[in-house]
Amino acid sequence: MANEDPMDEPYGFEIGPIRPPSEAYSLLVRVMRNCAWNRCLFCPVYKESEFSARSVEHVKRDIDLVHKYILQFRGDPAPAVTTHTAQVVPGEAMAFDMARRWYLSGMKSVFLQDADSLVVGVDALSNILIHLRSRFPSAERITSYSRSSTINKMSAEELSKLCDAGLSRIHVGMESGSDNVLKLVKKGASKKIHIAAGLKVKASGMELSEYVMPGLGGRRLSREHALESADALNKIDPDFIRLRPLAVPLRAPLFKLIESGTFEPLTEVEVAVETRLFIESLEGISSQVVSDHVLNLLGDLNGQLPEDHDRLLGVVDRFLSLAEDQQVLYVFGRRLGAFNSIHDMSDTSKARRIKKAMDEHNVSAENIDEIVAQMKRRFI
Ligand code: SF4
Repeated sequence: MANEDPMDEPYGFEIGPIRPPSEAYSLLVRVMRNCAWNRCLFCPVYKESEFSARSVEHVKRDIDLVHKYILQFRGDPAPAVTTHTAQVVPGEAMAFDMARRWYLSGMKSVFLQDADSLVVGVDALSNILIHLRSRFPSAERITSYSRSSTINKMSAEELSKLCDAGLSRIHVGMESGSDNVLKLVKKGASKKIHIAAGLKVKASGMELSEYVMPGLGGRRLSREHALESADALNKIDPDFIRLRPLAVPLRAPLFKLIESGTFEPLTEVEVAVETRLFIESLEGISSQVVSDHVLNLLGDLNGQLPEDHDRLLGVVDRFLSLAEDQQVLYVFGRRLGAFNSIHDMSDTSKARRIKKAMDEHNVSAENIDEIVAQMKRRFI
C-alpha cells in the first residue's frame, strides 16, 4: 500500500492529466497522483512528476463537493456557468466545472485517476468506491487504469472485494504480448504477467479493457509484436481490445532511441500491415475491438469478435489496397482530422481540399511519415 502524502491538503480539489478516450464523459475522481512505475520509454505523461497517494478523506471530500453542486443543478436541464457562478464557493471552481460537465453528460460513468488507482490498497479503494456508490447510486460504471504487475500481486479475494465495492472495469495498458518488446520499452511486465493479471480481473467479475500499441516493436520486432500480442489476448479473451498506436513525443525517452537509430519506427503503411497480422491472429475470443483514439489511422476499425473478424480485416485491406498516392492522401487527411475512414475519401470536395493542402505543403510519399510524426506529436 502506498503512503499517503502529508502535503495532500493544500492541493484542494484535483483532476489528473489524462483518462482513456472512452471516459470522455466520466466524472474524474483523482485517487492517486501520477504513476508509481513511470519508466515506460514511450510514455511522457508523468515523467516530470512524483507519485503520491491521496488520502481517502480528501478523495471523499472531492466526491462530496461534486455531489453538492449536482444537488444544486437538479431540475435544471442545462445549468450554465453564468447561472450558477454566484453559488460557487471560492476555491471550488474546478469541482463546480467537473460537476456541471458530468451532470450535462448524464452522470453515467466515473473514472478513477491517475495511472493505477489500485496501488492505494484494497481497503482505501473500497472505502472510496462505497462512498462513490452511495453518493451517485445511478452511475452505471466505475472504471480505473491499473498495471498488470499491480493486479498480479493482488489475491482473487482482493479483486472480488473491489468488484463488490463497485469497481466495474479495469483498463490495462498491455501494449504488447512480446517479452522482447515489453523489455525494450521497460513496461515492467512480461507476457506471462499480462495473461495472469487479465485472467484475474475477468475471474473477479469486472470488465477488462486491454490496450495494445501497434508499432511499439519498431521495424525489428513488428511481426513478433503482432503475433505475441494476439496470442496473449487469445489466452485472456478480454471484454475490449483497444488499439492505441505508437506516437513518440520529443519528451518521451523513446525519442532518443529513434534519434540514435536504435529504434526504427514503422511507417503508417507498415503499422497497417502489422495491425492486419495482429487481427488475423486473434482467434477463439469474443472481445470487442475498438479504435477510439485520435491516433488510430482507421477510425472505423471497430467490431465484435468473432463475427466481425473478416470485416475488420476488410477495413485494413481497403487501406492497404489503395494506390500509393491515395494512401498518402488518406493518411494526410486523417491526420488533419478530415477523414475517419476510407469511405470519407468519396467526398470529392473534401478530398480535393486535402490534395490542395498537400500540394501547398509539398507532402509526398517520400516525406509523409516524417510530417505525420510531427502532426501526431501535437495530439499527445
Ligand atoms: S504507460 Fe502507464 S505505467 Fe507506463 S509510465 Fe506511463 S502511466 Fe506509467
